Amino acid sequence: MLDIKITKTTAPKAKPTDETKLGFGKISSDHMFLMDYSVEQGWHDPRIVPYAPFQLDPACVVFHYAQELFEGLKAYRTADNKIQLFRPDCNGQRFADSSERMCIPTIPVEDFVQACKALVEVEKDWVPHTDGSSLYIRPFVIATDVGMGVHASHNYTFCIICFPSGAYYAEGINPVRIYVEDEYIRAAPGLTGYAKCGGNYAASLKAGEKAAQLGFAQVLWLDGIEKKYVEEVGAMNIMFKIAGKVYTAACTGTVLPGVTRRSIIEVLRDWGYEVIEGKLSIEDIMKAGKDGTLEEVFGTGTAAVISPVKELDWKGDKVFINDGKIGDVTQKLYDTLTGIQWGKIEDTKGWIVPVCEG
Ligand SMILES: *Cc1c(COP(=O)(O)O)cnc(C)c1O
Repeated sequence: MLDIKITKTTAPKAKPTDETKLGFGKISSDHMFLMDYSVEQGWHDPRIVPYAPFQLDPACVVFHYAQELFEGLKAYRTADNKIQLFRPDCNGQRFADSSERMCIPTIPVEDFVQACKALVEVEKDWVPHTDGSSLYIRPFVIATDVGMGVHASHNYTFCIICFPSGAYYAEGINPVRIYVEDEYIRAAPGLTGYAKCGGNYAASLKAGEKAAQLGFAQVLWLDGIEKKYVEEVGAMNIMFKIAGKVYTAACTGTVLPGVTRRSIIEVLRDWGYEVIEGKLSIEDIMKAGKDGTLEEVFGTGTAAVISPVKELDWKGDKVFINDGKIGDVTQKLYDTLTGIQWGKIEDTKGWIVPVCEG
């Protein structure tokens, strides 16, 4: 249990009046959570303070060797004005798993969840009211040792910041075109694919730009060795419904284990669908696209919840999915997950963690 010291701002910002213009991660809230690590004291001094810039030595390890990690989750406001989180313990566990990979001292899952809840409670008036909007929560940790030597840092700062964010699908759910990346890779066995670290993103920007220039919304990554099996898409996991069964890459180290992914797998299995976590080749997917058995394709992640795919392009070959429309199962999954998150559907899974009255 953390003993969190709270210092409130004396200069609160005006809340955005037009929630349709919030966008994603553009406006920060008034406060942030901080906690420091040193070898002597371990994690210490948990505190909520006014949001402010960091002052850091230019020789900090994080700037040069990218020893850092992040998480992403949301706080939701329900119709009866309660503020709640969705499976924050899963984010806390993933943060700990990522930390272990990056030689960063772990934070107990309970402390991670407590820190998120404490900050959201302080910022509860920043949780927007519009349907589909939320307060995006961004926990992260950075290495703060000073010096050019390459080694795991002995000092760290853990920080959580929040952003009121608009509905992802303010203009309705539009299925997207996906470019199957055949040159660059995102991960390979033994590397950091399963860790939510900034380095993975830095390495992915080039492919993202290439795809954007060609008119695609996202990149579909293939495995790093044979470039044969599908792994994930942009910052989302991806699922394929083929002849009634749902396929997705297994979490064996090269794929980010998404909280949305595992939640959707559970819901699908509850509904009686067979879900296969394993190797699925892009060749088989293209074949299914041609013979009419590729029924639905969708990405899964916290930001969008579900992002339906209407087209896949691989080495100039194209398949089109469900006449460019969102599939029935995709739509039902979207309604179910968002229904639980915004409190419109009863949470029979114990996935919701209440924070406070709004
Ligand atoms: C965060 C992330 C996801 C989705 O994870 P969720 O927990 O569902 O938000 C998928 N892929 C990558 C690369 C990610 O960074």
